[in-house]
Amino acid sequence: MNAPNLGNNHFTAQTNNHQIPNHFGNHNNHPTTAQKNRIFPVSLDLDVNYLSPNRKKIPLSLAKVKIEIKSLCGNIINENELNDLGFLQVSIGTITCLNSISKTLDIEVDVTVKLSNKYIYITDTDITTGPLPIADNIRDAIKKEKNLGHYSFKLNGKITKKTGALSINHIITGDNISIINGAVQTNVGSNFALIYACLTNAMRFTDTLAPDLKIKWEVLPVFIDSSHTGARVFMVDSTIDLMQISIGYSWVPSAFLHELGHHVMFRIYNSVTPPLVFIVSTSIHRPCDALGTNEAWAEGYASGYASIIGGHLGYVKAGTLDLEALGTVSPTTLLYSFLVERYGCHMPSLDNDEGRIAALIYDLADFAKDSIWDNEVVVLINQKKNEFPGINQHWFGLSNGVDDNGAAPIDIDVALIRLLYESKVPSLKGYFDALKVKYAGKTELLKAQETIYYNYGPTI
Ligand SMILES: [Zn+2]
Repeated sequence: MNAPNLGNNHFTAQTNNHQIPNHFGNHNNHPTTAQKNRIFPVSLDLDVNYLSPNRKKIPLSLAKVKIEIKSLCGNIINENELNDLGFLQVSIGTITCLNSISKTLDIEVDVTVKLSNKYIYITDTDITTGPLPIADNIRDAIKKEKNLGHYSFKLNGKITKKTGALSINHIITGDNISIINGAVQTNVGSNFALIYACLTNAMRFTDTLAPDLKIKWEVLPVFIDSSHTGARVFMVDSTIDLMQISIGYSWVPSAFLHELGHHVMFRIYNSVTPPLVFIVSTSIHRPCDALGTNEAWAEGYASGYASIIGGHLGYVKAGTLDLEALGTVSPTTLLYSFLVERYGCHMPSLDNDEGRIAALIYDLADFAKDSIWDNEVVVLINQKKNEFPGINQHWFGLSNGVDDNGAAPIDIDVALIRLLYESKVPSLKGYFDALKVKYAGKTELLKAQETIYYNYGPTI
């Protein structure tokens, strides 16, 4: 037997610092290369954001991620999730190369960012169809991650045992282009990231407003639907809703935040014991359309929610339901865009106009002092004179009223969450009654009453 055997035992012995006698005792052979087991630790810093055309970065907060590291010496997988800021710092594990002579290792990093968390589930497929009842079908699809929207990307790298964390900065921009570590890569459906990021952060913020109330948020499936127009939310059963957004509306944060407002309202009413049953259906609607009182309340609340939360997070311009805060759409002829703060309508009634209800909820919580005689209203009237020849100050509010709640506004947790939760009936009147109870004898109530009056509401 002439050939030396540099087998596994020999190697193991070396790495464990034990001496194993070389039974073959071939002294004619000189080891040419020091081979041993090499251990390569792999850790990753991941940062995933949506970048709007006007350069606002919105983190893909709470998204689930699957990281696969592939190499000739083996693969490792890590399942994790991004934090609130769309960031993940993770030690994924080690890859051991047996009998290796190389001090470096080529790896491929495959990352899948799944648009799913405890609040939101994004899909481009109608997950409600099938033999099961709709709600069960939806829950089943979510559980199995069926048709879940996601972004996948790959990186190739070379690591040593001393390589620090690999860093991936993944930016999804508004024009279907992804930038990974500065390199532009084509991607599809950036609107999925926009919707996911805006809805998740809005829900996250909403959830922090009144944590003591234990509102039951079941995951909201969001179906981005290429075959319809508009946007809507369905109450599927007593605990789950479904949002449907057309491609056109998927670029419009004020539209899908309005839909999120419906979800928030339904879930609050359903978290009360016993639940407040509120069934409402609306077809196409706009501010200043005369609606039934239920429809006006549902739509007005949803728009009030979108303008307050969206304004707070910077996804819509404060005091508006505009279409272009993030630069994702140009101001075109989409139906739903209006000034909430300076809302004007020829139909002077609070309870059947969603625009006035939105304006009222916004006014309850804001600090600005609106008066129909103030300069901004006059400017607005002059701007709109050609379009609406009959326009005058009285479209904007009651002439002897004002929403000057300056020192005593209603906190937004109260305006958006608690007053719904404390309502005895699911209506604008129920909302006012809860307000009266909550602030009995306080300045907030007096100021709120003036604001309601200014917006053509009842004397409460
Ligand atoms: Zn609506």
